[in-house]
Amino acid sequence: MPEDRHSLCSAVGAPVLELKGVAKSFALQGSQPVMALDNITFDVVRGEVVTLMGPSGSGKSTCLRVINGLETIDSGAITICGQNLADYRQPRHVVRRKTAMIFQHFELFPHLNVIENIRLAPRLTRGRTAMQATKKAQELLDMVGLSKHAQQYPARLSGGQKQRVAIARALAVEPEILLCDEPTSALDPELVGEVTSILARIASEGMTMILVTHEIRFAREVSSRCLFLESGKIHVDLPVRDFFAPNESGISQDNSDAVRPRLQQFLGKFLCT
Ligand code: ADP
Ligand code: MG
Repeated sequence: MPEDRHSLCSAVGAPVLELKGVAKSFALQGSQPVMALDNITFDVVRGEVVTLMGPSGSGKSTCLRVINGLETIDSGAITICGQNLADYRQPRHVVRRKTAMIFQHFELFPHLNVIENIRLAPRLTRGRTAMQATKKAQELLDMVGLSKHAQQYPARLSGGQKQRVAIARALAVEPEILLCDEPTSALDPELVGEVTSILARIASEGMTMILVTHEIRFAREVSSRCLFLESGKIHVDLPVRDFFAPNESGISQDNSDAVRPRLQQFLGKFLCT
């Protein structure tokens, strides 16, 4: 029987996701380990869109990857719908299936056509029948405006179309949380809008999302909160309006005097161009 998507997240207002003191380092041969995540703590309630920003190497992708279970953590805890991710190591456990991710480089299966890309995970991990999976895939293809491309192979699609297929594929597993890692940064500028407009629509329909993006206008439009990461630490966690006006707002960290100019410098690079 198909499980209810929200069955594990029944408490109203309870966080869908909690990270508490999460640390992750990568040991590279012959050099000091890199602290990719250093005591990361934040939570996300249902329907929130939380955007992670920060320079390259600050830990944004690692943060999404540990939430998605693609990487283990060294210490701390990640709780999804009240259940500790570390307690459920089986890849198909219900808690691990609460998230879905879209990647900068799409990561579609090249040997499967568009509709097969979307149908696969619901069949393998959700126990959907072929008919159920096809019907859902068709609805999602319609939603991303690609119904006519159902039989096409990924190599024949533009970057924007590939990312729209990847969005449909992620939604096909009916995730609780959609994780998006720079979903537009591999696209030609004129294709960015076709992806951001779909993600904005999904956000407006109430999907909980964690987004990594450098598209400032998009981030301002869709985010509830923005976090600024640097060297694996969260330096700023503010409602979106305050984040983009750091002069007028209280940056709640102890080191606010140091953080404020750094955030402004970071944002300035995007806002001026
Ligand atoms: P961002 O997405 O903000 O650019 P990442 O999360 O990709 O940053 O990386 C954070 C740090 O962790 C970087 O120093 C990066 O080199 C390192 N890192 C990430 N993944 C790995 C890995 N698989 N092996 C070794 N180092 C890694
Ligand atoms: Mg990254």
